[in-house]
Amino acid sequence: MSRPPLALRALPPEGASHAFGQPGGVMRRRDFAALGLSGLALPALAQDTPFDKLTEAFLEALWLLDADAAVAAGRFEFAPKITLPDTGQRALMKAYLQRSLEDFERVPEASLTVSQRMDRALLIGKIRSDLWRLYTLREWAWNPSEHNPAGPLDLLLNTDYAPLPERLTALKPRVAALPAYYRAAQASLSGVTREHTELAIQQAPGVISVLDDIARRAAEAGQAAAWRVPLAQARAAVQGYVAHLKRLLPTAKRAWRLGAELYEPKFAHDIQSARSARETYELALQRREEVLASMQVQAAALWPTVIGSEAAPADRFALIGRVISKLSERHVARERFVDEIRAQIPQLEAWVRDHDLLTQDASKPLSVRETPVYQRGVAGASIEAPGAYRPQDRTYYNVTPLDELSPAEAESSLREYNHWILQILNIHEAIPGHYTQLVYANRVPSKVKALFGNGAMVEGWAVYGERMMIESGYGASPEMTLMWGKWHLRSVTNTILDYSVHVLGMARKDALDLLVRQAFQTEREAAEKWRRVQLTSVQLTSYFSGYSEIFALREQLKARPGYSLKAFHEAFLSYGNAPVRLIAAEMLKA
Ligand code: ZN
Ligand code: ZN
Repeated sequence: MSRPPLALRALPPEGASHAFGQPGGVMRRRDFAALGLSGLALPALAQDTPFDKLTEAFLEALWLLDADAAVAAGRFEFAPKITLPDTGQRALMKAYLQRSLEDFERVPEASLTVSQRMDRALLIGKIRSDLWRLYTLREWAWNPSEHNPAGPLDLLLNTDYAPLPERLTALKPRVAALPAYYRAAQASLSGVTREHTELAIQQAPGVISVLDDIARRAAEAGQAAAWRVPLAQARAAVQGYVAHLKRLLPTAKRAWRLGAELYEPKFAHDIQSARSARETYELALQRREEVLASMQVQAAALWPTVIGSEAAPADRFALIGRVISKLSERHVARERFVDEIRAQIPQLEAWVRDHDLLTQDASKPLSVRETPVYQRGVAGASIEAPGAYRPQDRTYYNVTPLDELSPAEAESSLREYNHWILQILNIHEAIPGHYTQLVYANRVPSKVKALFGNGAMVEGWAVYGERMMIESGYGASPEMTLMWGKWHLRSVTNTILDYSVHVLGMARKDALDLLVRQAFQTEREAAEKWRRVQLTSVQLTSYFSGYSEIFALREQLKARPGYSLKAFHEAFLSYGNAPVRLIAAEMLKA
């Protein structure tokens, strides 16, 4: 839920970007001295039960072994140390993960509360996933863009956690380690893909621009001279890495498609669904047919008033596409974009309250703001929540104004986020979607769920929330139903696309046809999605996978005595960011 690291901003987010379950390594507390980190101030531990102690020790050791993961979690005292992507680091992690896995597996289930049982399942899942990534997926060898130091540098420079001179002092050893970082990265690579190598080359200017930012801030703080040499060496290291990657390109032959053998286990680790990837894909095909059939009915009914007396095309996609395109002309003026989003938040709050959908917490208002300039890069809107260790920080709804776009680009964005879709976007990102879910999750005092929470649950809730709002009568009109269909079809299509491309070998032209003609997306959106599916795998299935499991759970519970929609929502959210499969098991037990 944090904002995307700079290096990832080359990839378009789907609504928000939610960085969950970062793979990371850990180390025992007794190894602190060996790392030379024994002097670090550690926060007071919550030592309520043996399980809590074990968990705290696991996390603290994790941060010691993987300072980059610590910084991402908001533990900024780890700023000076960088995580080197080398063999020694991977061996330490493997050993520690294996020992920790045994520790957590040995904890008797019966001694735990429901929340602790879910934490234990999440931790065991995370450790198994990390081990699988390290030694089976081995992305560190074939994906050169895995090795990118910009994210933590950017976060540490631009988060106001301490006065600037102090932040610069803390950053200096990290920057000085960049030559060693890139040497380790280079030595790790073998059998790379062309696509990920090109991505790493494209991202290099982003790394340089963060170094430029550091130079600028150092000058502001009167430290320009002291930074000249480390920054020059860091820039040279980035350029050296790029030169190495360019030498690798002619022989870069690894297939970027994951293939069934890696896809199913990756899906099982990342999504934690009760279903297999194949079953989820088949369910998405079925859902797609339902959605298209409903959209066809809406579009046919709207045709005479929206298009006029012209005969409607017999082709389903042509019919729906024409009506959507015409309706998209209704949108807010570009200079009103941010204000309009700000104005809708209280309306959504009121709707959720008046229709008794769930209880909201008035003491935690959402601040809508223009995305800070240094975070811009992709247009759109996203929830920016503080890291697990910084609950005192505010939650923002960042909206990027359209000021910097050309008139044609702005028009394209405004048609995409037209009168109806803009409301659905706010439902997804804010109320009752990500923001509302986050307020509930924060009441569960579990760092494990905050740190390693399940992305499919989080995205699935937001997608479920869209449907639930439409069902409650929000914005009721054939136009809204049709536009929601288009938006919903995007989640469904993401799953179909990801599986088809990585497992079934779908060609580029078929993928673009699926997105543009059959899912009514713009050429630009489709091109970005094709790029994303080449560079990532499985994450695109999280939206539909989570949604379909939440919806199925609700339908199962509906038949029970005492069921109410509000009670279902509040009970579901009370478990925090746990996999839907585990929440469902608890709720069906009761
Ligand atoms: Zn227009
Ligand atoms: Zn989302």
